[in-house]
Amino acid sequence: MKATFPNFGYETLALKTFLEKLGASVVLPPANTKHTLEMGVKYSSELICLPFKITLGNFIEALNRGADTLFMAAGAKKCRFGYYHYLHEMILRKLFPRFRLYAISQYTPYQFVFEKMPQIFMVSPTRVIYALLILLAKCALIDDFKCQLRLARVLDFNQANQIEKRAIKLIESANSISQIRRTRQEIRTIFSINGKKPEIKIGLVGEIFFMIEPFANQEIEKELSRLGALVVTKRSLFRHLKHLLKIDWEFYRFSLLAYKYLKDSPGGEAIRTVGEAVSFAMSGIDGIVHIYPFTCMPENIALEALEKASEDYDVPVLSMSFDEHTSRTGFLTRLEAFVDLIKRRKRERGR
Ligand code: SF4
Repeated sequence: MKATFPNFGYETLALKTFLEKLGASVVLPPANTKHTLEMGVKYSSELICLPFKITLGNFIEALNRGADTLFMAAGAKKCRFGYYHYLHEMILRKLFPRFRLYAISQYTPYQFVFEKMPQIFMVSPTRVIYALLILLAKCALIDDFKCQLRLARVLDFNQANQIEKRAIKLIESANSISQIRRTRQEIRTIFSINGKKPEIKIGLVGEIFFMIEPFANQEIEKELSRLGALVVTKRSLFRHLKHLLKIDWEFYRFSLLAYKYLKDSPGGEAIRTVGEAVSFAMSGIDGIVHIYPFTCMPENIALEALEKASEDYDVPVLSMSFDEHTSRTGFLTRLEAFVDLIKRRKRERGR
């Protein structure tokens, strides 16, 4: 089996290890580029959300590299993510004669461990549980690495970029619990650098694919750090997996915080987006940036809620939607203007 799945930011490394632990040989799609997006856009309907187009582009590029088995997360209750995999398969069948596509439902963990994975890989549930533990541990490591990276980027942007490359190599080769534990310590050590204190803190919230995949969000975290803002976020694959396993306790708090603004979930991560934003606002954050795909229904609803929360907590919120036509220059200009506004506001208030 030559397995593949769409790129998912740094977390791609953890998902690759998971499939390898189950015995697959993994063929990753190349890193996302303009070509990936062009491929996805070419075969997608115009108004479908950008994550669909990018992931379709990933599948096309991976199949061209020789992959024969595709894995795609599925099941999103109220949003169109639930039928991504049907559409992917329909489109890809017209382009590639032979491949298998497995849709992996996010909301049936027991079936995943005891039926689906053992059937696909012909392994025991015990082996699936072991692979899952490694996946969780590696996702936690990547979550920790990203926190270190965010701080290091504001302290010394160029040095952080150098360290990032070394850290990724270490993460790539950490494939057992003990190696993962050692790597976490090593990464913390190499990231202990000195530099100027961050001027402002910005909370980043939004749709999960955009929060995790830097190509989709035009490397917004890097750009904010370059402007002197420490980025704070509560989103990662590690937290998402904990949420699916119903052990993400913070999510219950976010749901309570969001309730005043969103009584019912419109699907996707809207509740989490609003809850996280309110939690950031309560902690005294300087500003919030909200990112989402242009046609994303749940996040467009969250946008309304965020406008109210912004007034209630007197915290500036910048909402940015993206599609394949989003101009890089326009994006950077809006970001710079927002960061300037927050810095000026902070100076004026003497905080
Ligand atoms: S959450 Fe938004 S972007 Fe993601 S699949 Fe649903 S509608 Fe599309």
